[in-house]
Amino acid sequence: MAQIIIKNIRKEFGDFTAVKESSFTIEDGEFFMLLGPSGCGKTTTLRMIAGLELPTSGEIYLDGEEISQKPPSQRDIAFVFQMFALYPHMNVYKNLSYPLVSQGMARRDVRAKVDEVAGILGIEGILKKPVGGLSGGDRQRVALGRAIVRDPKAFMMDEPLGALDAEFRERMSEELRALHDRMNATTVYVTHDQLEAMQMGDKIVVMNNAVVEQFGTPQEIYDKPATMFVADFIGSPSMNFLGFDGKVAEGAQSVELNGQTLGVPQQRQGADGKLVFGVRPEHVKLTDSGGYRGEVIATEYLGTTQIITLETANGEIKARVPAGQVATVGETVGLGFDARTITLFEQASGQALRSELNHEVLTHG
Ligand code: ATP
Repeated sequence: MAQIIIKNIRKEFGDFTAVKESSFTIEDGEFFMLLGPSGCGKTTTLRMIAGLELPTSGEIYLDGEEISQKPPSQRDIAFVFQMFALYPHMNVYKNLSYPLVSQGMARRDVRAKVDEVAGILGIEGILKKPVGGLSGGDRQRVALGRAIVRDPKAFMMDEPLGALDAEFRERMSEELRALHDRMNATTVYVTHDQLEAMQMGDKIVVMNNAVVEQFGTPQEIYDKPATMFVADFIGSPSMNFLGFDGKVAEGAQSVELNGQTLGVPQQRQGADGKLVFGVRPEHVKLTDSGGYRGEVIATEYLGTTQIITLETANGEIKARVPAGQVATVGETVGLGFDARTITLFEQASGQALRSELNHEVLTHG
């Protein structure tokens, strides 16, 4: 299997730039998510890795070998299209064996390989059935099988579960992740669904407007968002943003918040910009006392927790609190935040002030 290094890739379609200088590394065996809203450049990035589009500039390395300008057939990467793209007139066995037969593999070897892959996917019992009559789940397994039989170095998947209803989607995503854990195959997976990315991914690249906003583990991205866009896109409800009087003073290397010193990255020093205070709903505490107060304007019961929406002097804020906590619409309560859970952003750039972050990726675009 394979490590994939993406170095400063860029893709232009005429005068339109779909992907601006983007860099990240996909380690061998990782389940790697490309996440972002519609049109941000995820599919284009995936297609460049598979060789279905060639980058305008930049480099792609597969196991140390530069493949940036090679055709797909010389990359040994399998692209799993929307799972239903099968040959409808063929049975399951023929669908699975087709890629091997077209490579000229001997019949006996084809049979052995198809049997092995059918075993991995648990579809031994349907090999003779035409794909037209299969359930959605089985079709999905066959489509995956067709990619797996080739023993590629890596799998590219573009929203493979996109067409499924919620319950089935959850079951298939668990199955896909379990399959990945058994095979340990490097997998790059495109999705616009942040929950899917958080649940399935070892690492996530968050893209927006053709730019990589952040790259890290689900926990890093959730706990330490590099930008306001990431903080807003990840998490439901998303992070609360409150305007804040503080400014990064000319030349300051840090700012103070509730006795905490937050480092200011080098390129933001001297920015002298207005700051935004970011706090996740689960880190907002409702108290009886406290100087900072808000009026409860809505409550949403979710079983084990509830979401309380409050109006404060700085705007609306959402708190996730235990379902048993009493909060009545119309009452005014105190609000508490643990300073360690707060992220400060510079409003103009949307960048988080956190000195330990790798700000290299934020300088692109
Ligand atoms: P979606 O989830 O909607 O597919 P995405 O993040 O995968 O979004 P891309 O498909 O990579 O986005 O497209 C990024 C931008 O590039 C879009 O604005 C799209 O219209 C444009 N684009 C993609 N392919 C081409 C092409 N062949 N020619 C011109 N523009 C293109």
